[in-house]
Amino acid sequence: MLQSPVRHRHFIDNRDAAPAGGESIEVVDPSDGSVFAHIARGDARDVDVAVRAARRAYDGDSGETAGGAWGRSSAVERGRLLHRWGELVLEHRDELAALESRDTGKPISQARADATALARYFEFYGGAADKLHGQTIPYQPGYTVLTVREPHGVTGHIVPWNYPMQIFGRSVGAALAAGNACVVKPAEDACLSILRAAELAAEAGLPAGALNIVTGLGAEAGQALSEHPGIDHISFTGSTLTGRRVAEAAAARHCPVTLELGGKSPQLVFADADLDAALPVLVGAIVQNAGQTCSAGSRILVERSLRDELLTRLSERFAALRAGPAQDDLDLGPLVSRRQHERVRQFLAEGDASGLRVAAQGTVAEHAPAGGFYQAPVLFDEVPASNRLFREEVFGPVLAVTSFDDEKQAIALANGTDYGLVAGVWTRDGARQMRLARSLRAGQVFVNNYGAGGGVELPFGGVGHSGYGREKGFEALYGFTALKTIALRHG
Ligand code: NDP
Repeated sequence: MLQSPVRHRHFIDNRDAAPAGGESIEVVDPSDGSVFAHIARGDARDVDVAVRAARRAYDGDSGETAGGAWGRSSAVERGRLLHRWGELVLEHRDELAALESRDTGKPISQARADATALARYFEFYGGAADKLHGQTIPYQPGYTVLTVREPHGVTGHIVPWNYPMQIFGRSVGAALAAGNACVVKPAEDACLSILRAAELAAEAGLPAGALNIVTGLGAEAGQALSEHPGIDHISFTGSTLTGRRVAEAAAARHCPVTLELGGKSPQLVFADADLDAALPVLVGAIVQNAGQTCSAGSRILVERSLRDELLTRLSERFAALRAGPAQDDLDLGPLVSRRQHERVRQFLAEGDASGLRVAAQGTVAEHAPAGGFYQAPVLFDEVPASNRLFREEVFGPVLAVTSFDDEKQAIALANGTDYGLVAGVWTRDGARQMRLARSLRAGQVFVNNYGAGGGVELPFGGVGHSGYGREKGFEALYGFTALKTIALRHG
């Protein structure tokens, strides 16, 4: 049973806040479809209260820029605070994991790994806070020119439901380290771990207003956050369509935006690849989080001479995969919601209708409750580049295999979607490794691995429909600051 009390309210100014409209939204357990909690249904009024709280923390009551308790904080203090927060997250790791697992259907060991990653973001950005240096620029005689990185002020964070803790951590960890005050809108399907983590931030000593959480629907609270004139930067992770909407709302007032919009990431397997090493990674990259991962390796492009062997061995692995309730910790849990379940089933139905061959399927555990949103993993054979399953993000455990004849065709197929987030390359040929790494249209390329363990240090983001700007690593700190050039003429 969960230890933490169910939360109904927003978290603003370091305390619970009732929604202005007095309404709530049911929280459904994806493992059995039951309602186990309610969250506040926030709207523009709640967002406004949260933005004002953040503004006070940053600017203070007099409105002097960066004159508030958080605005005046030193980089060292912010670093220490993030470290303390990270320690508290580790102390409460099992509690956070239990909340996340029940809320999203994530197998419990995955949820524990996500809680550990949350702490790791705070460790990393805690350590980085006082290392965000500017430069001095050699200019004309008689001048000294330098650059400083200043926080934007109040940043908005729209977080999706697939990795709530991780995406919350990477986003607010970097923003707070850089000195911004934050307003967060979690996805309506995944709020509980974020609300609890925010309480831990207050316990760690974060001043009131530096971090505020408004729950609610995307079209209400999310839209209001994108449109709010008091928000100076927005970080969004989610779908291409919603990302565009957020960017349009922000553009109306020239507010900078970072968009991380998912992908249709390929893994290219050449005939000389170490298949024993590749196979578990190829499967894990689509099964992790039931395929609801922005960087899921959802396409395999295989050199034709290796295709039969790869397909046979992949099929064996797929047939052995099992989906079941989150607490059973099987290969995958249920999908996050009825809506996502229906979306994925629609893709599968279209795949069948277009005549694609299913090479193998996993199973749903017999004891899985009928009300849960389970989807067995599916492996499709020879998916043509024209098919939706080749081009569009399914966000479910669905893998498409396509053969290629040579390197040129492999690159064309890999780059043949609107997305460009992540790519994997499996080959022993060193020159080819680098040629491919440079030719693939993606924000991250992994050679003879995929994801590199998800390190928080590694800048992450995409090109094309996968978005722009970078999260994670030191690079994210640049995104959460505005660069100022100061030219001093001294003769
Ligand atoms: P959305 O892009 O709609 O949701 C992502 C976040 O945006 C959520 O917090 C959501 O809130 C919020 N949101 C929704 N509408 C608005 C709006 N008008 N203004 C501001 N914020 C808004 O994704 P979905 O949940 O609908 O999932 C659809 C598809 O998106 C998935 O199948 C997948 O392909 C992709 N996706 C990609 C993710 C990634 O990691 N890149 C993550 C999630 C989804 P709320 O949930 O409360 O509506």
